[in-house]
Amino acid sequence: MTDLKKYIRDIPDFPKSGIIFKDITPLLASPDAFSFAVQKLAEPFKNKSISKVVGIEARGFLFAAPVAIELNTGVIPIRKPGKLPYTTVSQSYSLEYGTDTMEIHSDGISSGERVLLLDDVLATGGTTEAACKLIEKLGGIIAGVVFLIELEFLKGRQKIAGYPVFSLLTF
Ligand code: AMP
Repeated sequence: MTDLKKYIRDIPDFPKSGIIFKDITPLLASPDAFSFAVQKLAEPFKNKSISKVVGIEARGFLFAAPVAIELNTGVIPIRKPGKLPYTTVSQSYSLEYGTDTMEIHSDGISSGERVLLLDDVLATGGTTEAACKLIEKLGGIIAGVVFLIELEFLKGRQKIAGYPVFSLLTF
């Protein structure tokens, strides 16, 4: 189980013209590939005193939950506005056109807690940058930011240069 890239399917012009969408569903559908990916994502953060894994809606959840079990931590969701039922803290961020907002429960992370942030794809980095701000608003310490896939040509890493960033697959 070394070549996880063969489980990533390119979908041209989705969701709009000019985007090559990285479809992770073949990887999720393979028990061997999925479990190998989860172990590899968790591996660099074992014995790093992480107490929460934070996943970004929606595909980030698919990896954050099993990685949290692997690291013996809790898992905390970052969601689109209006989805979380308890008191929230929110962060807006720029999109290609306009802005978007994401939210986290105000008690999701305690001050000083060491957090691992996880998402499926690092593209321009805007989403991750906003998620980092949200975690820091609650006093969390970002011990690492991890992605299944990094689209290097979009240089998203520059937006989160202050954090330890780790990606399993690069394109
Ligand atoms: P960004 O804020 O540009 O880094 O975008 C990151 C978010 O958009 C991630 O949550 C990804 O799920 C999604 N995303 C962006 N580009 C792609 C792509 N080419 N294929 C799959 N997902 C993508």
